[in-house]
Amino acid sequence: MKFEQWKCVAGLTRWLLLAAALGLSAGCSSDGGSAAASGGSGFGGSGGVNGGAWPGGAGGSGASGGSSAAGGSLATGGSGGNAGATDAGADANDSGPSACGCLLGEGPYCGGRAKAEADAAGCTIDVLQGHRKDLLKCENDKWSVLDDCSDTCNYDAASSELDDECELPVCDCFVQVAWCGSGAAKEAAQMGCRIPLLPEHNGDILYCPGGNWDVKTTCPQGCVEAPTGTPDYCKDNSEYRLPWKCGDSYRCSSGNHTSNHSGKDEYAYDFAVPFGTPVRAMRPGTVLRVRKVSVSGDSCYNGGGSACANYANTVEIKHADGTIGLYMHLSTISATQGAHVNRGDVIAKSGNSGWSTGPHLHVQVQSNCGIWWCQSQPFKFEEKANIATGTTVTSGNCP
Ligand SMILES: [Zn+2]
Repeated sequence: MKFEQWKCVAGLTRWLLLAAALGLSAGCSSDGGSAAASGGSGFGGSGGVNGGAWPGGAGGSGASGGSSAAGGSLATGGSGGNAGATDAGADANDSGPSACGCLLGEGPYCGGRAKAEADAAGCTIDVLQGHRKDLLKCENDKWSVLDDCSDTCNYDAASSELDDECELPVCDCFVQVAWCGSGAAKEAAQMGCRIPLLPEHNGDILYCPGGNWDVKTTCPQGCVEAPTGTPDYCKDNSEYRLPWKCGDSYRCSSGNHTSNHSGKDEYAYDFAVPFGTPVRAMRPGTVLRVRKVSVSGDSCYNGGGSACANYANTVEIKHADGTIGLYMHLSTISATQGAHVNRGDVIAKSGNSGWSTGPHLHVQVQSNCGIWWCQSQPFKFEEKANIATGTTVTSGNCP
């Protein structure tokens, strides 16, 4: 919508220049054909025609019948339309409409609002020419440009309150990869500039192809502002919830960067869930691989040392962005390879299989390196961004 309007106005500006040169009138969609003001021709005598029609009784053009010598400049206000009315017939030869008085008051007016009011009143404002989207004011029925805002004047046509103002300049595009519109808006507010796509796309992801603001991804369920250094992402498919029943609480027995978690699993979490606890998907995706390598009675099924490292039962779920959620030390697995799982779906039961000293659930998000054990990546749970060892956390993995 907004772009259409701008396009139209830009076109109008060019058209006005041409029209001014040719003595034509210009129009743009609903603006009618009177944009080119007939400023400069003396029409003092015709003022009375519209004298009584202006809202607010601002004195109308105030032109008294005989002041045509003033030639285009508006006579001092205050004499009202009554005097002019008697002269209306005498000025039937005058071709153009009269010059507007102050219409709704002193302003400020965006040019667009002034134009609309002028059209409604059947009068013209000559200063509008070339300033259709700048900020105007009117004092003693004289119009002038209050602020040349480079055609960015913004007003609420539905409101008659004259709080019109120039919009802020467009921000240089500062998005490196992906920002939620809402986050970009906060940054823009601090920088004192504006982003053309906002607020319509506050909940979508923006980026800067070729240095211009554009929508990268539309997020039907809103956008998640990720920690600094991490690209923002759409809600819905991409946020992580704790891998057990909504409302239940368990302790994190080992967080990121601990003696248990370094190297490939540096961003893993261990949770002290009892043996046999249903494990729920942290994020939706497709089951990439299921490894049932230890069954009850096997030497690595219920705990073991480093020799059991390859005998942990695991499920891997591939997410929409290509990352993989790994669930480890499981006892039984219900998920099947290739199946789609929604977040919260039960995929397995926790256990103590593999290299493990006690029942717990190990989860990590990792790259796809072709095997089940890959380099882990930082991620955060929606319930709590940073879960330190020893912290008890409650699952928000609700339907
Ligand atoms: Zn672990």
